[in-house]
Amino acid sequence: MGTTPGSFTYDGECPILGASENPSKLRVREEGTIQSVVDAADQLDWQEQAACRDYDNILFFGPDQGESEIEKQAREARAKMVCQGCPVAEPCLEFAMETNQKYGIWGGLTDKERASLKRRRARARRAS
Ligand code: SF4
Repeated sequence: MGTTPGSFTYDGECPILGASENPSKLRVREEGTIQSVVDAADQLDWQEQAACRDYDNILFFGPDQGESEIEKQAREARAKMVCQGCPVAEPCLEFAMETNQKYGIWGGLTDKERASLKRRRARARRAS
C-alpha cells in the first residue's frame, strides 16, 4: 500500500480516503476544484467501507506514464472488479460526478465512462 505514482502521492487506502486526508496531493488540484473536493470530503463517512482500502492507489489511477493501452485495460478491469464488490460504489460514483473527477476509476467507472454518464444525465434533464 501507499505507492507514489508520480504526483499522486499519499499513503492512502481508498483514493477517496486519501482525498479527505491529504487533499494537497490530489491530481484534481490542477483542475482548480480542490476546494469542492475538500468540502465534499467532509461528508464522506461512507468511505470507511470502501473496498479499495486494501489496494494500492495505482490500481485505480495507474502510473503517470509508461502504461500501454493493453496494460491500462487490464488494470482498469482489475479495479472495476474491486468496485463491483464495494458496498459504497454508488456514493463513490456520485462523489466523483459531483466533484468532476478527471482521473481514475470511481464507482466502477473510468473517466470516459463518467463523462458519458454525465452527458446522458444532461440529455435526460433537458428532455424532462
Ligand atoms: S467503488 Fe471502487 S473506487 Fe469507489 S470506494 Fe468502492 S472500491 Fe473504491
